[in-house]
Amino acid sequence: MIRITELILPFDHDEDDLRLAVLKTLGIEECQLNSVAISRSSLDARKKHSIRRVYTLHIETADEKQVLEKHAKNRKISRAPETKYIVPILIRKIKRHRPLVIGTGPAGIFAGLVLAEAGCSPLLIDRGKPVSERTRDTYNFWKTRELNSESNVQFGEGGAGTFSDGKLQTRVRDKLNRDKKILQELVLAGAPEEILFKNKPHIGTAKLVKVVENLRKKIVELGGEYQFQSRVDDLILERDQIKGIKLQSGEEIRSDHVILAIGHSARDTFKMLSRRGVQLEAKPFSVGFRIEHPQTVIDQNQYGKQAGHPLLEAADYQLAHHSSLGRTVYSFCMCPGGLVIAASSGPGTVVTNGMSQYARNERNANSAIVAEVVPTDFKDKPLGGIEFQQRWEEKTFLLGGGNFNAPCQLVGDFLNGKPSSELGSVQPSYLPGITMTDLRGCLPVYVVSAIKEALPKFEKRIRGFTLEDAVLTGIETRTSSPVRILRGKDYQSISIRGLYPAGEGSGYAGGILSSAMDGIKAAEAMIQSINEEN
Ligand SMILES: Cc1cc2nc3c(=O)[nH]c(=O)nc-3n(C[C@H](O)[C@H](O)[C@H](O)COP(=O)(O)OP(=O)(O)OC[C@H]3O[C@@H](n4cnc5c(N)ncnc54)[C@H](O)[C@@H]3O)c2cc1C
Repeated sequence: MIRITELILPFDHDEDDLRLAVLKTLGIEECQLNSVAISRSSLDARKKHSIRRVYTLHIETADEKQVLEKHAKNRKISRAPETKYIVPILIRKIKRHRPLVIGTGPAGIFAGLVLAEAGCSPLLIDRGKPVSERTRDTYNFWKTRELNSESNVQFGEGGAGTFSDGKLQTRVRDKLNRDKKILQELVLAGAPEEILFKNKPHIGTAKLVKVVENLRKKIVELGGEYQFQSRVDDLILERDQIKGIKLQSGEEIRSDHVILAIGHSARDTFKMLSRRGVQLEAKPFSVGFRIEHPQTVIDQNQYGKQAGHPLLEAADYQLAHHSSLGRTVYSFCMCPGGLVIAASSGPGTVVTNGMSQYARNERNANSAIVAEVVPTDFKDKPLGGIEFQQRWEEKTFLLGGGNFNAPCQLVGDFLNGKPSSELGSVQPSYLPGITMTDLRGCLPVYVVSAIKEALPKFEKRIRGFTLEDAVLTGIETRTSSPVRILRGKDYQSISIRGLYPAGEGSGYAGGILSSAMDGIKAAEAMIQSINEEN
């Protein structure tokens, strides 16, 4: 297979244009070209009058060796790299109890899948419900304000990213093709095939739910098992070795090998780990507000006259400003054509986040505008970040009216330092509802000031970003884990043998794809350790 990189065409080209460009680049005849597959496709809209698609292609030709020799000096033409992931092998049967995986978010699911493929028959345990029941609970909360603390946007099968935009970007490039394995498994489970090649792939909430169900079916077919509504409340330890877990029900499950993939919101579980002597440290994360603009404002900025063209997806943006207060303010988890959602997982707290469906066709674009907070902001205490989040989420709940309404302010009023009393032309999407107010009470002054400084800077990049009527809702606190569960190179906790912290909650990964990759690495490390024991 031959690879061509950086092949550039107008964004509205057709299939014939692509084939012709390949023939021209390789200098071959149509009869020599067997197949053209897109390996990567990105949109280059830096010049609005000439928006282009940039491709990496995998090509099959009749005389591959000859073609490669002819282009030996062209760095854009080479042999296509291997894209297959090799599943690790369990050399002998596990001596005693099967491995446990706590959490069925991206990290837990992909750890579970690799363990099952290797023949380890893992048991996957989650405090929440199977994804379809969880979906009902979550939509019910948005409609009726009745929060189920164990079944919501953060907890339950699929993990935190289930009701999301399903963006699958990561900066991590993996030599062993773990990233490709994840994307391929997602496609086999029902995700759109384009995620295999799009530069900014995304799945969308409704499709993700189906994908998560199908991944479960595959893990079960391979010998894995799931146990839902089973919160892990304690660890069974013998000196510094894990021997099993205790569930909320009192049930004990024995195992010497436990992957801990609990995400960033299991505050009770982090507290239990701390009590049990698992070494934790506070880590930086970011907090701020969700901002909503009409999607047309973003499209016009990014695409100029081509805005609204049916071949152009809803536009996104990525912004950052290093504020004079020393804190970086940036846009996070931008959801084109999406919704701002209520993402609380506990009573008396308001937390926002963003999601979109595959079509990204809602009226507003939203993103979190956040500033970094660091361990010294919460006295370097390992659980200080959790206390910080809890405190500000509770204040926000009260400011919203104590009924899960999110406090909301117009961007114009926020910049002028006055409370808002009514909406303008932009309708916020947050459910169950919003309360117009002054957002200054929701977050520390240093965060509010840094964001206030950043918004006019962002206006220079996106005209309309500080639109008077654009809306801010508070607050965004769950950008990444406030805690790191310290682990060694063998992926095991530095204080408890046999315990493998993985995914976002470990503090070593963030986002769907990187957490899933981290889950796979933890499973590989566990398999290696089991092989060495036997
Ligand atoms: C609304 C929203 C939108 C997002 N959008 C995106 C996006 O578009 N792209 C992206 O890359 N990332 C996104 N993220 C972040 C992404 O979802 C997370 O990075 C990712 O889910 C982390 O995966 P994880 O498996 O490590 O943890 P999680 O997905 O958080 O899963 C942890 C699991 O552990 C379970 N659990 C916790 N404690 C216990 C316990 N004591 N016992 C048993 N089970 C327990 C929970 O129920 C949960 O299912 C979004 C997050 C949210 C909330």
